[in-house]
Amino acid sequence: MELYNTLGQKKMDFVPFTEGKVNMYTCGPTVYHYAHIGNLRTYIMEDVLEKYLRYTGYDVKRVMNITDVGHLTSDADTGDDKMVEGAKREHKTVMEIAKFYTDAFFDDCKKLNIKTPDVVEPATNCIDEFIAMVQALMDKGYAYFAGGNVYFDTSKLDEYYVFGNMNADDLDIGVREDVTEDENKRNKTDFVLWFTKSKFEDQALKWDSPWGVGYPGWHIECSAISIKHNGEHLDIHCGGVDNAFPHHTNEIAQSEAFLGHKWCGYWFHVLHLNDARGKMSKSKGEFLTVSLLEEKGYNPLVYRLFCLQSHYRKPLTFSYDSLDNAAKVYDKLIKRIGAFKAEGEVDKAKAEELDGKFREALDNDLNTSLAITALYDALKSDANDATKRYVVEKFDEVLSLDLLKGGEKGTENLDSEIEALIEKRQEARKNKDWATADRIRDELAARNIKLIDTPEGIRWEKIL
Ligand code: AMP
Ligand code: ZN
Repeated sequence: MELYNTLGQKKMDFVPFTEGKVNMYTCGPTVYHYAHIGNLRTYIMEDVLEKYLRYTGYDVKRVMNITDVGHLTSDADTGDDKMVEGAKREHKTVMEIAKFYTDAFFDDCKKLNIKTPDVVEPATNCIDEFIAMVQALMDKGYAYFAGGNVYFDTSKLDEYYVFGNMNADDLDIGVREDVTEDENKRNKTDFVLWFTKSKFEDQALKWDSPWGVGYPGWHIECSAISIKHNGEHLDIHCGGVDNAFPHHTNEIAQSEAFLGHKWCGYWFHVLHLNDARGKMSKSKGEFLTVSLLEEKGYNPLVYRLFCLQSHYRKPLTFSYDSLDNAAKVYDKLIKRIGAFKAEGEVDKAKAEELDGKFREALDNDLNTSLAITALYDALKSDANDATKRYVVEKFDEVLSLDLLKGGEKGTENLDSEIEALIEKRQEARKNKDWATADRIRDELAARNIKLIDTPEGIRWEKIL
């Protein structure tokens, strides 16, 4: 398989460190708000990458963090912690916010058929590991203490801008509208490993450390969590393209300084989802979430298809018109596939030929739009229905569009999903978590599910 590698900026043959095994790391969500569908574009494309690696026979271990501390409003170490901001906005504690939006994130992922990574680790679980890593960087002379914070000293590196395409101007973009220079930094590109001073009074969560009570920087979280679960050699690190600098650049600096050798072979970056105003963000324009799309009557898998129709390395512009087009394509696909008869023998040779085209598309830097074309070619081919059904089922292991389930999750699947939601709502009510209970009730209502209280418990029915 060829993958575009930001490290080297070209397509490269993918060869993992250990034959047959892939260690993969994904920057997880900052759980201070709902994920917008731009964030989810990144997670959808990473999901396809993971599933395709498994499809081709790799044993994949995928790790993701949950950023529940340390990610400041500016990626250049200034501003408030986003979690503190979320807690203030909703008059809740940081941990309540973290729990609520972590659950909401995985609910969205489920609707989009995004598989949960093998390991999901909240940053607040790993404070000891962060402190140990910062201490080791201090001991090795890569970090210094100044003005109450611990900084990574980028002048100690042979090369800091490892992705090549970054320069001092990009840092200024990273700093964005923030004008206050941190006077403690020895070099402009130095970054915080451990905070004790910055915006300290407002920080809800803080821990004891050799440098005083404080909290970790955002970058150290991903390095330490990845090394904890994936070991010293990482094969693929993923994230949205905005993560490349400074976040991933800083991750490489500190991980390699800590390990004393090269850390990660391939850097997979998904380009942004934009709307008419530019990059989609949580603070401007309509806040587009999966729930909002559902409220407007879209099946979330239509959004997944919309993402798969274009290449992950091209920016994608969202509009309801293009989503409507994807919905039409999706309906046609489902109808066509639904008409196949289940009888007949699978022609294995034919299936292999069709699968070959599908693999050819994805081997070419995960070209999902060509993979969709390969799906169409299979549907149009002279193969018999049994063979077509067989290949559609195979392709759907990667595409995850529920192609054989009639567009809606199969009845069995749907029933258990609704029952799980009802159970979750009961649990929330028991814990007096009315916000979650109401959210689930609304979600069920949006899916035309009516809840009926009976002496035996809650029953539900679908209003047609
Ligand atoms: P965050 O929750 O802000 O930490 O972001 C979660 C993921 O979404 C990161 O990998 C970001 O790089 C990615 N991301 C942020 N904005 C967009 C966007 N407009 N389109 C695609 N991915 C994005
Ligand atoms: Zn990260």
